[in-house]
Order: sequence, then structure tokens, then C-alpha cells
Amino acid sequence: MDKKIAFIGAGSMAESIIGGLIADGLLPPHYILASNHSNEARLAHLKETYGIRPFSDSAEAAAEADIVILSIKPKQLEDALQAAAPGLTKDKVIFSVLAGIKTNQIEEQLHHNNPVIRVMPNTSAKVGQSSTALAKGVHARDEHLQAASELFSAIGTAVVVKEEDMNAVTGIAGSGPAYFYYFAEAMEQAAAASGLPKEEARDLIIQTMFGAAVRMRESGQTSAELYQEVRSPGGTTEAAFQEMEKHNLQDAFKKSVQAAISRSAALG
Ligand code: NAP
Repeated sequence: MDKKIAFIGAGSMAESIIGGLIADGLLPPHYILASNHSNEARLAHLKETYGIRPFSDSAEAAAEADIVILSIKPKQLEDALQAAAPGLTKDKVIFSVLAGIKTNQIEEQLHHNNPVIRVMPNTSAKVGQSSTALAKGVHARDEHLQAASELFSAIGTAVVVKEEDMNAVTGIAGSGPAYFYYFAEAMEQAAAASGLPKEEARDLIIQTMFGAAVRMRESGQTSAELYQEVRSPGGTTEAAFQEMEKHNLQDAFKKSVQAAISRSAALG
């Protein structure tokens, strides 16, 4: 890809994307620019770790880039756009990873009709395994969507969705890695209580999650079919399911994901 990219906001999401892009080799490090608000140590860390170019002025970073990736928190959007405004000339393409913020909310704060693409990646970008969704704003054309698709395909998968589906995407894929880590932690705790060494438990859990994901992708079977297959009467899995059902775990988890979806909708 022959485009310079500037991140406005150099926090954990920006680092996940930068880490993935550098590992993939899609862009040379000096094609990646980043600016931050107050935390200069973040920029020093990103420069040292990935070789990217740090900027203390967002407008200067934007001015040098072809694509500007907004990676601040939703509540920081207005200030960040104001600071970057002198560099956000009409030729800049804007990608936004902000949860809950619609393309039109960004478009109306820009001084030009810049193409805006809304992107929902997740932190697995850092290891090239993000599940990313893309939606385009009113001024974006297919070529801009293609550029976003090329960039985010380098760090996982990228699918185009309708913008109204972005809150659901955020609740399942944006926040999703955290849910699996949380379940993994509970499995680690149960294993530790039974005396299994921590490192052994960790390796077993990782491969179990990975194997289940590959199986789900390759079998074509539904989630219910796959767990029913393991859940033989009188067996160990059945004992676990009885306990989970006693605590309405599936319902509680469904409500938790719905809370993430609602939160995404409320952020806008
Ligand atoms: P974060 O770690 O708090 O990063 C935000 C960064 O923006 C901070 O480094 C902050 O710098 C900087 N910043 C604040 N105001 C700024 C300004 N005016 N100009 C330039 N930089 C500014 O947050 P995050 O977790 O990376 O999330 C960033 C965005 O990614 C959010 O909108 C979130 O919805 C989205 N997202 C996150 C995930 C995830 O898993 N984390 C997944 C999908 C999407 P200071 O520390 O100096 O204030």
C-alpha cells in the first residue's frame, strides 16, 4: 500500500493496529504517523517499539498523511478534530474506529466533504487476527472502502456492513475478545483450584479456544449443534451445563452483550 497513515490518538487500539500493520509489512514504519494528547511517553514507546513517526501536533501529522485514523475516545472527538483541523484538508480520507460515533457525526464536524469510513476492529489486530467491520459515510466511494478493506485485511478479516448494524458489531466483535479472556480466566481459576499448574492450564485453554474457533468455522454446524455433540448424558460437559443452566449463564451473557450494544448506541 502506498499511503501514509496518521493516527490521531495513540492509545491501545492505535497500538493494536500499528503492531499488526508492522508485523504484516503492509506499510514501512515511516509511513505510519501518530499524535497523542498529553502522554508523550506513549509516543516514545510507539516510536521505539515499531519505528513509527511521532507527532506532538495532530494537524502536522494529518497534513503529512493520506489517510487519517481517528483513534481517540468518543468523548475526545470534538477536541481532537479541532486540533487536527488545519491538517484535515479536502484530500484526506478519514477512518474512524470510535465506538458508537456515526459517520454523519464526524462529517458534520469536518470543514470539507472528506470521505469518512467507520471501522470497528478489535485488539486482536495486534496479532493479525482482528475481526473488522467497515461502513461508509455519504462522501465515501467504493475506492475508499477498498482502501480500508486492504488496510484492515492485513490485520485480520474485514467485512462491509450497513452502518445501522455497527452497534451490534461493536458489542460482539469490538468488545468480544474481552469476553473470551474473562471466560478463560474463570477456567484458569477452576484449574488452579484443582491443582493444575498455571502454565499448563493456560496452554490447554488457549488451544481449546483456538480449536473450538477453527471447528466452528470449518464444520458449518451451528453453535448449539457443536456443544450438544460434546454434551453426552451423564458426562463431564453435561455436569458443567447443568451448573451453567442453574445460574442462567447463557441468558446473563446474552444480556451482557446486549448491554455492550446499547452502550455503543448511547455513545453516539
Ligand atoms: P485509549 O487507550 O484511551 O486511547 C485514546 C488515546 O487518545 C490516548 O492515548 C489519548 O492520549 C489520546 N487523545 C485524547 N485526546 C486527544 C486529542 N485531542 N488529540 C490526540 N490524541 C488524543 O483508548 P482506546 O482503547 O485505544 O480506544 C480508542 C478508540 O478505539 C475508542 O474510540 C474506542 O471506541 C475504539 N475501539 C477500541 C477497542 C478496544 O478494544 N480498545 C475496540 C474497537 C474500537 P492521552 O492519554 O494523552 O490523553
